[in-house]
Amino acid sequence: MTSADRTTDRLVFAVDLGGTHLRAATIDENGRIHFRLKQKTPATNDPREIVSALIAAARVCDERSAVEGKSIGSISIVVPGTVNVRPGKILTIPNVPCLDSFELSAELRSALGRPVILENDANAAAVGEMWQGAARGHHTMVCVTLGTGVGGGIILDGKLWHGANDSAGEIGHTCVEPFGGVACGCGSRGCLEVYASATAIVRMAREGRPRHPSSSLNVSDDLSAASVFVAGKAGDPLAVEVFHRMGDYLGIGLANLINILNPEMIVIGGGVANGWELFEEHMRHQVDEHAFPLPASEVKIVPAECGDDAGLLGAARLAFLPIDN
Ligand SMILES: [Zn+2]
Repeated sequence: MTSADRTTDRLVFAVDLGGTHLRAATIDENGRIHFRLKQKTPATNDPREIVSALIAAARVCDERSAVEGKSIGSISIVVPGTVNVRPGKILTIPNVPCLDSFELSAELRSALGRPVILENDANAAAVGEMWQGAARGHHTMVCVTLGTGVGGGIILDGKLWHGANDSAGEIGHTCVEPFGGVACGCGSRGCLEVYASATAIVRMAREGRPRHPSSSLNVSDDLSAASVFVAGKAGDPLAVEVFHRMGDYLGIGLANLINILNPEMIVIGGGVANGWELFEEHMRHQVDEHAFPLPASEVKIVPAECGDDAGLLGAARLAFLPIDN
């Protein structure tokens, strides 16, 4: 056995704990996913039920790893919420509120007897894209995830930027429409999230219906960002308008990031990024309008490559080699 073989015997049990699904995988040091499972996140008010589900998933992955002659050396959990990274404490997690203020790492460490890492899912996605995705080979990058909400992760000179209170990278809550902007769940108004998330796409489509009575989006009762995208690709004027507007606001947000951080690359992920061809032109126009010419012309703005696995891969990378030390 070579030393390379021995290192890949160690796997990370990586978990993306979302409001709807708990997705887990065993991942090796080369970023290869060995085994994965997906189940519903328990709908509960009791954090112990979530912990039990995580322990059960870890046991399944332990057994599968043993069959391969491998073992899980550490655990890495990412959540759609704010966390204190070093103690491994969840602060707020809007979609799984029973875990607010919960010391998840300590619970799992004592139950599973292995080191546990806790991270925000969008931060982990940035790490995943830099390790195995669109930002391979880059060291100063920003990842913006356009999902139900808008998440962000910032890597500066190879270091995941947590900020003084682990709350850095909340790109979705940067203000892009200060006066008369739409109210955001965070308590502010005019955040990027209320113009560039999947939720925002659906809201803007509904709002635009009276102005476009012949739009195909007037027929369907169950609008989704995906259905607005399909209509937009077919040339529906309301759907096209929605993605143009979304691209305008996204571009303003990216221009601010470019002027502040001068990144080499901005990676755009999440389901709404599938609408790339409908919003790209407007996004780039606003970047050109608002960002300094040199950093705006040099930065590469590209779609993500890791899909739903970005968070899991980033979680594993952080467990193998924390990039913020
Ligand atoms: Zn907000």
